[in-house]
Amino acid sequence: MNRLRLATLAACLLAALPGPGQAQARPGAIAAEYGAVADRLIDAAIADSAAWTKLARLTDGFGPRLSGSEGLARAIEWILAEMKREGLESVRGEPVMVPHWVRGEESAELVRPRRQRLGMLGIGNSIGTPPEGIEAELLVVSSFDELQARAADVRGRIVLFDVPFTSYGQTVRYRVQGASAAARLGAAAVLVRSVTPHSLFTPHTGTLVYDSAAPRIPAAAVTVEDAALLHRLQRNGERLAVRLVMGARMLPDAQSYNVVAEVRGRELPDEVVVMGGHIDSWDVGQGAMDDGGGVVVAWEALRLMKALGLRPRRTVRVVMWTNEENGGRGGTAYRDAHRAELPAHVLAIESDNGAFRPSGFGFTGSDAARARITEVARLLARIGADTVTAGGGGADIGPIMQLGVPGMSPNVDGSRYFWYHHTDADTMDKLDPRDMGLLTAAIAVMSYVVADLPDALPRAAAP
Ligand SMILES: [Zn+2]
Repeated sequence: MNRLRLATLAACLLAALPGPGQAQARPGAIAAEYGAVADRLIDAAIADSAAWTKLARLTDGFGPRLSGSEGLARAIEWILAEMKREGLESVRGEPVMVPHWVRGEESAELVRPRRQRLGMLGIGNSIGTPPEGIEAELLVVSSFDELQARAADVRGRIVLFDVPFTSYGQTVRYRVQGASAAARLGAAAVLVRSVTPHSLFTPHTGTLVYDSAAPRIPAAAVTVEDAALLHRLQRNGERLAVRLVMGARMLPDAQSYNVVAEVRGRELPDEVVVMGGHIDSWDVGQGAMDDGGGVVVAWEALRLMKALGLRPRRTVRVVMWTNEENGGRGGTAYRDAHRAELPAHVLAIESDNGAFRPSGFGFTGSDAARARITEVARLLARIGADTVTAGGGGADIGPIMQLGVPGMSPNVDGSRYFWYHHTDADTMDKLDPRDMGLLTAAIAVMSYVVADLPDALPRAAAP
């Protein structure tokens, strides 16, 4: 290109750029402006196993972190102290009252036609049984439709929903709504086949929601293997009986906190990119994948900005929401505490799909914003995390997305997520240090660059 054409081109570009606010509309501008800083963040994130090591300290040190548990309270104290030690800014716990469900002793046993202990986990928020348990005939059904078709046979029985896994969203309805659906027809208790595509005799817990119009009955998940066994026996014409014992109970609400830390913006500190995951977990395993990894990669992304001396135009804020699993109180408390600032929340990123190898992000927001995000994501091409798909978000950022904040979640290799989800197998060994570094890199680059762009991401027109 000769000098004259270069000058002409520069003039054209300048003419097309009336203000600094449109600099990012120029093709390749984001790559030119942010390529070097993105590479620094990526190099730092994948240089070592810092994210994995930090997660191991959290999960091995404090164990599972169900709302109301000592494990959660102590984990939050430790995180706040570490964040301060690292020099992160505005480190604080924002108070949230959370439900305090405890599992107690529990078991399930096939008692007729023969005795066999069943692999089970009580479903979170379930009531318990009387101390001696509930022993009743078992009715196995494959769907809500079959439950209705067998309505006359439900009263006084324990109902087992043996529903094959299709997608999480489809199949989880039986865990969430199965107890009340069966209780409306007079069932004494409910068992649900664990919500998973793959089982090595691992029962999967999770939450249920009682319909206020139905009686509350105890509910537990059983393994895929045992659900299949019980269903085969019923098909063979056996009359089955099961004994369920659950010491579960709901205690008074407990004090918890959303954990917050920031790197304050250098020009527009009141405009915020928020990113994080949930610090609580189920009371089994270690909550390593769900969602210890999610909170640690966001925390590491922020720490790397601080360590590299990067201070974006806007504030980047990590939030570790509490009580995602059995109440969602952290997400609603954040919305309520920050309602006045939400118009200045530029973007919310939630990582709650497991800290596995990232391929990019899902995004929910205006088309103009998505185009900008897609350009930012190109900075992640060298680690294969540059694909932006439609639709992103999460349970904790849902409440602020409903008020117009654009939402995003990393897309990761989800092939094994539901194998371990809400089980004793959700432990550190399921996560790979390299993949956690890549996810940290993706979140660090996305949050930093969006926080630093000359213009805030354009929002969709208000409804
Ligand atoms: Zn989760």
